[in-house]
Amino acid sequence: MVGSTFADSGADLQLVGIRKTFPGFTAIEELDLTIPAGSFFALLGPSGCGKTTTLRLVAGLEQVSDGRILIGGTDVTTVKAHKRPVNTVFQSYALFPHMTVLENVAFGLRRRGIGDPAGKAHEALKLVELDHLAGRKPGQLSGGQAQRVALARAVVNRPALLLLDEPLGALDLKLRRQMQLELKSVQGEVGLTFLHVTHDQEEAMTMADTVAVMNKGRIEQLGAPQELYELPRTAFVATFLGQSNLFAGEVVSSDDRLTIVQVADTRLSVPTARTHRRSGHIVIGVRPEKLFLHTSPVESDSAVDAIGPGRVLDVSFSGVSTSYLVSVPGFGEVTVFAQNLVSGPVARVGDEAWLSWNIEHGFGLEDEALPDSAIDSIDRSLGQEGAHAASASSDRAE
Ligand code: ATP
Repeated sequence: MVGSTFADSGADLQLVGIRKTFPGFTAIEELDLTIPAGSFFALLGPSGCGKTTTLRLVAGLEQVSDGRILIGGTDVTTVKAHKRPVNTVFQSYALFPHMTVLENVAFGLRRRGIGDPAGKAHEALKLVELDHLAGRKPGQLSGGQAQRVALARAVVNRPALLLLDEPLGALDLKLRRQMQLELKSVQGEVGLTFLHVTHDQEEAMTMADTVAVMNKGRIEQLGAPQELYELPRTAFVATFLGQSNLFAGEVVSSDDRLTIVQVADTRLSVPTARTHRRSGHIVIGVRPEKLFLHTSPVESDSAVDAIGPGRVLDVSFSGVSTSYLVSVPGFGEVTVFAQNLVSGPVARVGDEAWLSWNIEHGFGLEDEALPDSAIDSIDRSLGQEGAHAASASSDRAE
């Protein structure tokens, strides 16, 4: 039964044929999603893609225009927000300023008449390692501590489903990284189902077992973080989740093992198991850290794809690695991340360079490359203007 019962363990969440329209605007086109009980699931996407709307629908703060929501197999589509076995942690902590930390955490339990609210609140505070501050007021806490109290306050209710809406957004980078690990370990300990909404790809990949990449009210791809990163299906996923070098070309031949693609005057090989198209026009990609930069021509090797010569346009040193931007005729601007195994960069701006990668690292997309305007908007959403690797616009690649 749903109602006010709260769970000992997480429940699964099913979204079936969800659509959400606001007057004159469709925020969610069509959403079908199953989140298994006890998993840490991240909904990742740029601003405005419909993440928060999805969360609000699950919480019961908005009503669906179409479709059904099931929690633990029970249809809650028309159940009121406070009757759903769901708690939400928002970016703003919304703690009661006049109450102590302990009273804040125990508040929900007291209101629902649950036994031993103080004991349970202490347990929850221990989980987030803040029991020693139980007597403080929220105004005497740091941002990270306040967010941990907000988490304890949500977890203490044992919701079958915990919704996290950019909960770490207000924290500085270092604290954010630390809290990501803590949140993940709390989830592992309590075994509840976590649905986390974020536009931070690193955060989603670090914490979640499963990531769904959302774009314009639809899920473009869903899977384990590594799977999405290694084998993006669409240009949007390849560009939003990490950086990609994308090249547009024509399939020359394809057998069970390899698909050969002509890009400008070069033939490249992609494992057929890693490509979504086997004929006609295709966009292929390779991640910047999979590339090797050479200062002389690359010897021919059937296991290796090689392009060049190109010209080094930019070298940027960032401690653990150096990022090179290389302009290769017919391929556009290609980004290479090289680990700093030697001191100092191996090439300088203006140098001639060749690039190579193991053919096992290439991937072939299902769709066309994104227009530059779409890439700019992803970069703006990620707050890293100009940071993305080359797009495969046809004027560059053909
Ligand atoms: P952000 O990361 O910026 O919060 P988001 O992916 O969470 O973005 P949503 O808040 O779900 O995005 O909004 C999705 C779209 O729906 C946006 O274009 C937004 O302007 C629109 N939208 C949200 N709420 C309403 C509303 N009440 N009325 C009209 N349009 C709305």
